[in-house]
Amino acid sequence: MLLQFKLRQHTSKVRQHMCSVSYKMARNEGNVNVRLVQAAIRGSLRDVEAALKAGADIDFDLRYSDKASTGTALFIACQRGHVDIVKLLLREGASVAKRSALSHAPLHIAAFNGETEVVELLVQHGATLDIRDNRQHTPLVHACIFNHVDTVRLLLKLGANPDLREAGSLDECEEESLKIVEEAMKTKLLRCCNPKCGKPGYRKTGTLKLCGRCKLTRYCSRDCQKQHWSVGHKKCCGHDAYTGERPDSFENIMASVFSPIQVNDG
Ligand SMILES: [Zn+2]
Ligand SMILES: [Zn+2]
Repeated sequence: MLLQFKLRQHTSKVRQHMCSVSYKMARNEGNVNVRLVQAAIRGSLRDVEAALKAGADIDFDLRYSDKASTGTALFIACQRGHVDIVKLLLREGASVAKRSALSHAPLHIAAFNGETEVVELLVQHGATLDIRDNRQHTPLVHACIFNHVDTVRLLLKLGANPDLREAGSLDECEEESLKIVEEAMKTKLLRCCNPKCGKPGYRKTGTLKLCGRCKLTRYCSRDCQKQHWSVGHKKCCGHDAYTGERPDSFENIMASVFSPIQVNDG
């Protein structure tokens, strides 16, 4: 209830600063990077392709203040569930680790919006399941807060760590999702983070070993670690822990998550 109230309150603030976003967008109309971002917002596969062909930076993120940005084209497409565009951008090498100004990675936003198919695609391309945002939230926490039960199940199946105590946000999670997570936690069973494997195992008995560098992914074997490294962990490893500033208000947390939805939708 409190969350819904805060969301409503937030929506009006988002509307207020949309004018300045639209202004900046309009001013940069000729810029090929901005065209890429706009095409992702509109969900136009053709225009995304055209912008890339014209030389747009695939990981461009339009910042409109210190603490807010549209996110990259991939972030936007994940947020809105534009599966074709997500596929194209991943094929073309878009970063699954680059965060919006407020520390959310594409996997956070896909989980937040319950875009289950997108979650799967990101993980197949090496996105780290337990990537942290500035509140130490993993994508699983975001799926639980908004009770996207299918996404919660998929994240666990793919190997997300069900132990959410470190994020300290169990009380924000919806009951139904929390139940699923608690069940998974009871078994103490984790999974190999190589999406091609997913073999269950236990950390305690050493059947799964942590990536020595990031300590956020687990593998059943050296081969699985190597395979995951080559599908994309190479680019993510070392970027998935959040070490920057903590957010200073609820509005700031929500700004990166909600603002692009309102931009130039036509
Ligand atoms: Zn494995
Ligand atoms: Zn790693």
